[in-house]
Amino acid sequence: APAETPVIAVNAHGLPYLDERLPVKRRVADLLGRMTLAEKAGQMTQAERNALRSPGDIAGYGLGSLLSGGGSVPTPNTAEAWARMVDAYQLRTRATRLQIPLIYGADAVHGHNNVIGATIMPHNIGIGATRNPALAARTGAVTAKEVRATGVPWDFAPCLCVTRDERWGRSYEAFGEDPALVTAMETVIDGMQGAASGKDLDRDDKVLTSAKHFVGDGGTEFGSSTTGSYTIDQGITKVTREELEAVHLAPFAEAVKRGAGTVMPSYSSLDIIGDDRGPVKMHANAEMINGVLKDRMGFEGFVISDWQAIDQIPGDYPSDVRTSINAGLDMIMVPTNYQDFTRTLTAEVEADRIAQSRIDDAVRRILTQKFRLGLFEKPYAATTNLASVGSPQHRAVAREAAAASQVLLKNEAGVLPLKPTQKVYVAGSNADDLGNQAGGWTITWQGGSGRTTQGTTILEAMRKAAPDAEITYSKDATTSTDAHDVGVVVVGETPYAEGVGDVGNGHDLELSATDKAAVDRVCAAMPCAVLIVSGRPQLIGDRLPEIDALVASWLPGTEGDGVADVLYGKRAFTGRLPVSWPKSEAQLPLNVGDKTYDPQFPYGWGLTTLTAPPKGGELTLRALELAARVLQSTGRATSPEAHQLVTRARLIVQSRIGRKPTEATSKPFADADHLLLTGNPTGAIHKLTEAYRAAN
Ligand code: BGC
Repeated sequence: APAETPVIAVNAHGLPYLDERLPVKRRVADLLGRMTLAEKAGQMTQAERNALRSPGDIAGYGLGSLLSGGGSVPTPNTAEAWARMVDAYQLRTRATRLQIPLIYGADAVHGHNNVIGATIMPHNIGIGATRNPALAARTGAVTAKEVRATGVPWDFAPCLCVTRDERWGRSYEAFGEDPALVTAMETVIDGMQGAASGKDLDRDDKVLTSAKHFVGDGGTEFGSSTTGSYTIDQGITKVTREELEAVHLAPFAEAVKRGAGTVMPSYSSLDIIGDDRGPVKMHANAEMINGVLKDRMGFEGFVISDWQAIDQIPGDYPSDVRTSINAGLDMIMVPTNYQDFTRTLTAEVEADRIAQSRIDDAVRRILTQKFRLGLFEKPYAATTNLASVGSPQHRAVAREAAAASQVLLKNEAGVLPLKPTQKVYVAGSNADDLGNQAGGWTITWQGGSGRTTQGTTILEAMRKAAPDAEITYSKDATTSTDAHDVGVVVVGETPYAEGVGDVGNGHDLELSATDKAAVDRVCAAMPCAVLIVSGRPQLIGDRLPEIDALVASWLPGTEGDGVADVLYGKRAFTGRLPVSWPKSEAQLPLNVGDKTYDPQFPYGWGLTTLTAPPKGGELTLRALELAARVLQSTGRATSPEAHQLVTRARLIVQSRIGRKPTEATSKPFADADHLLLTGNPTGAIHKLTEAYRAAN
């Protein structure tokens, strides 16, 4: 806590809202009853810390919240400095009449990614590849503990986007293309928040989540631009009502069930086919926010706008403010012109263009979460957990997730796993680049190449895994390739975040010329494994025959050791494609279930390096099916045990069908995936049995 210990004068008067023994509902009602319109408007305002004209404005405007936008960090950028920074802002609220604590928010979208030295998890696309909801929950718990330790009780995560077109530059923030997969991975919310009731939120290792971006952010059409440049980020999602429900809304219904404390609308516009209104900005979409999210789904948390997003609503500023608040937004990430915002909001209410009851509802929702988080009792950082930031225990979870996220797409001639005695030739732009393997939203908003934080590159991890092996490294593969046993070429993307990564906006899905040359040179000289470190599929096309083993590594984060673990067989490859892998850009959008589905690798594909299961696979499959039935009938269809059973069944089938996906085997695989994720492990094993039969 800060040195300057404030006197809590109101508490001395024993006001009910400061009495922690009272139920949250009563405390909220008591506090709300004491507030002026200006104080309420302040609670609905979130400013960026760098936009504060002076720290005194926190009390002056009664700001309800502050945020660190991506890369808005203290100096030095350490966990301790974060805690001090947030505490110092919090202390300012003591100078207000009612001493309502502020709620500080940050984007920790793959670990506490703004902080140097924190544990960086694989990005969501890799988490989707693990198909392991229990592991996803553990990554969420680690993230929450590190975030809360630095005084931040609110995380703008997870992204529940369902990527329908990988030309979208935020594809890596999605768990995958299938709403069932996205929904299954929402265990990450449990890991971050604890119980759906919100009763764990006041723990010093839990944070409030923000399910984002509501709704359809992953469904924007290629070429649909609202910002002028050729971009699909912040574009238009044109869907039928059925598709909207099944694909994009379903994950949010799940988030509401799991008690996600806040929801953030999308920058995009929604254009429902057959509805003659045309595209409606999500921040102005009363039908979706008031109607679907709050009324129909029963969302009780609060809705926080995206960064300056209300400014994109057509009309002048007062119209932006009233349109968004009347559509159901409760707090606005202003984030710079908080003076204008509070003034305009107050004026709109005074002019009766926003109902007083709407304001009260918004503030009630915000205060409820602040009470649940225990901010009135414990407003300052839980510094006891600071040592956990980037700790070996936390890095071990990230390592496990990185290993589980690796998808083995092809493995001819038994190239993988590598043997520790082999002489290895390592090449490629992403073999030894920590920043590239962490991707966007790492230390800075857009991320960056090089040693941006602490961690282990894939090359370093390989050297640790095989200390006696001779490992040669040449980034561009320009040194002699003679006499090596095997080549490992790690290629892929460089980091980007919003608006930047879109294909057609300076990016495509092709490997760089130097990466292509490295693949060609190494694979011509020796048996080779190619690892693709990227936020989405990259086009392999004609090169596939020359590559012996191919791995989708996604953006594994700081723990390159996880990648080395599967390369050297310390753990088996078990990851599966969370998105379909296209043959060409012309195929996009490409999704499992499309009529003319013909990908390079189908959704759900992924080989394993686990040793072959015993003979008599048919019999074992039968036994697994029976066990799955038991789990299903006892309501444990989505338990880790069910997950393990289906994984086991998959391995039996994969050992039988060998290396290449065929139409007859890949469809049942994708179906099995879907069935497991929708709580039907018995059905999943059934489908795998089908693939097994088809292969014999
Ligand atoms: C992004 C959000 C993020 C917010 C705050 C926006 O630009 O779209 O995902 O939570 O910034 O940093």
